[in-house]
Amino acid sequence: MITGKKIAFHTLGCKLNFSETSAISRQMEERGFTTVDFDGPSDVYVINTCSVTDHADTKCRNIVRKAMKKNPLAYVVVVGCYAQLKPKEIASIKGVDLVLGAAEKFKLPEIITDLTKNPCGQILASEISNADFFVDAYSAGDRTRSFLKIQDGCDYKCSFCTIPLARGKSRSDTPENVLKNAHQLAEKGIKEIVLTGVNTGDYGKGIEGEYDFFKLIKLLDEVEGIERFRISSIEPNLLTDEIIEFVARSKRFMPHFHIPLQSGSDKMLKLMQRRYKSEWYKSRVEKIKNEMPHACVGVDVIVGFPSESDEDFLDSYNFINALDVSYLHVFTYSERANTKAIDIDGVVPVHTRNERNAMFRSLSEKKRRHFYNRFLGEERKALFEQERKGTIMHGFTDNYIKVAVPYDPSMVNQILPVQLQNFDEAGNINCGLLSSGY
Ligand code: SF4
Repeated sequence: MITGKKIAFHTLGCKLNFSETSAISRQMEERGFTTVDFDGPSDVYVINTCSVTDHADTKCRNIVRKAMKKNPLAYVVVVGCYAQLKPKEIASIKGVDLVLGAAEKFKLPEIITDLTKNPCGQILASEISNADFFVDAYSAGDRTRSFLKIQDGCDYKCSFCTIPLARGKSRSDTPENVLKNAHQLAEKGIKEIVLTGVNTGDYGKGIEGEYDFFKLIKLLDEVEGIERFRISSIEPNLLTDEIIEFVARSKRFMPHFHIPLQSGSDKMLKLMQRRYKSEWYKSRVEKIKNEMPHACVGVDVIVGFPSESDEDFLDSYNFINALDVSYLHVFTYSERANTKAIDIDGVVPVHTRNERNAMFRSLSEKKRRHFYNRFLGEERKALFEQERKGTIMHGFTDNYIKVAVPYDPSMVNQILPVQLQNFDEAGNINCGLLSSGY
């Protein structure tokens, strides 16, 4: 057994990947490895990859090169969605020793028995489409908020998406184990948990008993020690009135919904094989705002999907512009192998995709400032993060407003009442503390 060696991790992609990297690093520490910073020298480098866009692929190659510069003799392991989808491509990258698929990544402690570099990457990546295993995970120690994995995989068939190919069918952790992990995080002093998965709202698939996302959040709302739960993202068709009403009256669930829309054009939604129309999405936003006018609503949107005409784009833009939402995450469509969208005629030129992306990013900035502006002068509670930027530290309010205060280490991981005052240069909100000697 290898002991006394250094290991470093780098994570690309989503909150789910961060929770899984954190879980794997804890497993390796139990095996006698010491986790060190990725920017420093290490004996082993582990890269947890994403494959949502082609940039993710390029990023992975650059990070392998970076690790090789730090220590040309280091043992390099690549895991995650890109590793599951294109193991041979990764194994051929100079410096890569081991490529692990979605089912094998959690077995790294058993698999890694020798750190001798391989002439080319060894691949262990089994078929995932019918996998029914669930490995739980949560992030802890490297952030103030913890990402808690409750669900994995997806049964949907969105025509642009490779995630079901990379992570398999929808499956869930048992409610007992989710509660056990939440209590463990409370004991570690974590104040905020972000419920994470691939299709989080589809929770309940693959476990015994009549469990669904609504039942789970009702159980979690009773977990002592955790002051805040946040739903990382939820599909519009799974966001029921009862979930919205529950969050509005709950003790611990934050008034913040991140809801992937992808397009405001019904023609595009049909081609994307999404499970709702724009009217339903609008009804979700209106329901949220009726129940919680102060709630934060985030939107995922894709630009440049095949056959998206100027008119379709404007339909999407005008639809979102008319919605009372708070910010956008904007993605530029990129061709992914083995997806239906790749066969749709009407490729949108890259420069047009970039122009449309830029338009949505400025719309997002307009929405965000308009949302923040509404709360200036108001009192809200903010959870302060450990990260320090010069003399400033940041926190997030219940409705996900990023606030800034002068750095004070004793405020890290504290939920404190603040008064929102004005915008700082970075567009965050300067705030004053409303309680002293806490
Ligand atoms: S819901 Fe659609 S976009 Fe999201 S992971 Fe599933 S297939 Fe992909």
